[in-house]
Amino acid sequence: MTTFNNLHIIPQILKNLEKKGYKNPTPIQEKSIPIILAGNDLIGCAQTGTGKTAAFSIPIIQNLLKSTKRADTRRGKVQTLILTPTRELAIQIGENVEYYAQGTGLSYTVIFGGVGAHPQMAKLRKGIDILIATPGRLLDLKNQGCLDFTTLKIFVLDEADRMLDMGFLPDVKRIISSIPKKRQTLFFSATMPDSIRNLAGTILTNPKKVEVAPVSSTAEKVDQKLYLVEKSKKRELLIHVLKTEAKDSTLVFARTKWGADKVAKMLTQSGIPSEAIHGNKSQNARQTALKNFKDKKTRVLIATDIAARGIDIDHLSHVINFEIPNEPETYVHRIGRTGRAGKSGVALSFCDHEEQAYIRDIHKLIDKTIPVTKEHPYHADHAPLTSKKKSPARRTFPRGG
Ligand code: AMP
Repeated sequence: MTTFNNLHIIPQILKNLEKKGYKNPTPIQEKSIPIILAGNDLIGCAQTGTGKTAAFSIPIIQNLLKSTKRADTRRGKVQTLILTPTRELAIQIGENVEYYAQGTGLSYTVIFGGVGAHPQMAKLRKGIDILIATPGRLLDLKNQGCLDFTTLKIFVLDEADRMLDMGFLPDVKRIISSIPKKRQTLFFSATMPDSIRNLAGTILTNPKKVEVAPVSSTAEKVDQKLYLVEKSKKRELLIHVLKTEAKDSTLVFARTKWGADKVAKMLTQSGIPSEAIHGNKSQNARQTALKNFKDKKTRVLIATDIAARGIDIDHLSHVINFEIPNEPETYVHRIGRTGRAGKSGVALSFCDHEEQAYIRDIHKLIDKTIPVTKEHPYHADHAPLTSKKKSPARRTFPRGG
């Protein structure tokens, strides 16, 4: 089995990885690290949960340490720019970089919108080795003259497909046009539709390609269970499951912001400490909720799909689909929040009568049938959904965020 040592990682970083408890590189790390260390451009097809953050952060740190020209301390100078679509992802990448770069003397900072700009501006006064940013705030600060990309050497575009989904393409293009053409570019995306390939084609030079586990195979590591239940009994079932089966940190998915709040309130009233995160909450409230959950002050976090995207929590044992998503890919993304980086996890799905058609779509995508758990007081014998029966037209719901 490959070790980080085999990948020629320098001792200081090896020490940090050891402290973090990483023994062996994940497949994306094993494939990407040598390519990046050699200075090549890279296009990586991988989603969160595969270890892709370390796959680019570790070799970037090592390359920066090796280069003779160390941090330019003049105002706003940046050596590496990591662009990512959401604040949560930016914060998480920042936490990772902080960890891997401990004791190296490299500087890093994270900038994102939704909070005051002044503390972030102050951090840019000195010049930064690694800047992690969301597109909007980055452009804001660039336009205000707080950033200078003339010495930029490495550019990472993280979650490119998500970036496009969220309408950031014009911002991303503007940013790319303002950085030096001669640079190392690392491009990551969970999916590779034509729009993403086209974008990659315009910003990468002779990239090496790396691909790991396509979306549907995430489902293999996770123990999945289906609970058939009447809609009106889902709350009781949730409390039951949280008291009997999912006793550790659990992420519950709700379809709407409103629904997430209601479930959180109901659980807290039943004596199960819970909080909701979604786009209606302020950035501070979201960060606090996430921190409380990571610190195990709250056991249950209720999230909408957009708010949960990229949530990185070690040892998340259970994911519960309080409602079944109408897009099967969303199911795979949700359950990918558990069973990360080789660890096992459990995903429970509460399916009412109307949602059975969505389960059938999910079975098709993951190419297996989720076993039904009947050992609980709220089991409902839904009429079996035969393959002849047509799915109802896909419902469109307001997207949570
Ligand atoms: P990511 O795909 O970057 O969001 O990483 C997913 C999770 O895997 C994070 O919780 C990381 O801390 C963890 N992780 C990353 N690399 C390794 C590794 N080599 N060994 C064990 N865990 C890892």
